[in-house]
Amino acid sequence: MDYLVRATAAEGQVRAFAVNSTDMVSYAQKVHGTTPVASAALGRLLTGGVMMGSMMKDEGDLLTLQVRSEGPLKGMIVTADSQGHAKGSVTVPTADVPPKYAGKLDVGAAVGPGILQVVRDLGLKEPYSSQVPLQTGEIGDDLTYYFAMSEQVPSAVGLGVLVDTDWSILTAGGFIVQLMPFAEEGTIEKLEQNVGAISSVTDLLQEGYTPEMLLEKVLDGMSLEITDKMPVSFYCGCSKERFAGALEGIQAKDLQEMIDDGEPIEVVCHFCNSKYTFTPDELREILARRNK
Ligand SMILES: [Zn+2]
Repeated sequence: MDYLVRATAAEGQVRAFAVNSTDMVSYAQKVHGTTPVASAALGRLLTGGVMMGSMMKDEGDLLTLQVRSEGPLKGMIVTADSQGHAKGSVTVPTADVPPKYAGKLDVGAAVGPGILQVVRDLGLKEPYSSQVPLQTGEIGDDLTYYFAMSEQVPSAVGLGVLVDTDWSILTAGGFIVQLMPFAEEGTIEKLEQNVGAISSVTDLLQEGYTPEMLLEKVLDGMSLEITDKMPVSFYCGCSKERFAGALEGIQAKDLQEMIDDGEPIEVVCHFCNSKYTFTPDELREILARRNK
C-alpha cells in the first residue's frame, strides 16, 4: 500500500517528504503499456509530483508537471492534488533507448533536452506557472534545479523506479528534502554529507527501504521527526460528465459535423485510458446545452 510521510528535522531547519509509489507506478505502467525506460521516467515524475502536490495546502489545489522534450519519449505530464492523488501520461509510451549499462535504464537519453513546466493552480484567478530547462532529463536533477531556480529553495530530490524483466514495477519511491531560509551552515553541511553518501535510491528501495527509512538515512543524525503519514494513489477522476463538459467547449460546427456523421464517437482519457462513447443523440443534447 503506497503512502507518503512528511517530516521535519534539525529543529525545523529542514522539511522532508518521502513516498513509496510502487502501486501508483505499476498502475501507470499497466494503463499506458510503457516500456521499462518510459515507466522509469513517468514513474519518477509521478513520484516527485505526488510529493510536490502534498506541499500544497487546500483540497482543490492542483499541481501540473509538464515535460516537453526532444528525446524519444517526447514529453510527459503529471497532475497531483494535495490529497495524495496523482495521474500522468507519457507522449510516446512505447519509446525505447539502449540501457546506460546492464540493468541501468537511460532515462536522461529517453527524455532528452527540453523544458519542465510547473503549474500550481491554487484556486486564484491566475495559476502560478514557471518553467526551467531540463538539466539531465533524469527528473530528480531537474526537480532539484526547478526548486533552486524558481522557488529559491535548496533541495535534494531522490527518485527511483525499479522495473522487472517482464516490465512490471518491482518498486518505486523517493524523497524530497528542503532547507528552510534560516538553515544554519552546520545543517547544510551535514545534509550535503548525508545526500552525498546515497548512490542510488533504487538500490535502497530494492533493499526494502520504507519512506521512513529513506528519511532516516538522508537525515541521519539530524533529529528527524515524522509529522504526518497519508496514503497515495494513481487517481484520475475523469467521468463521462466531464468529457461531456469538454465537448460543450468545442466549436458548434465541429459538434454538428459529428452529429451529421450519424456514428457514435469515442473519447479516450489520456491519463487513464478510460473510454467514453457518445451517441449522436447525446451529442445533440450537448450541442443544445452549448447553444443555450
Ligand atoms: Zn481518466
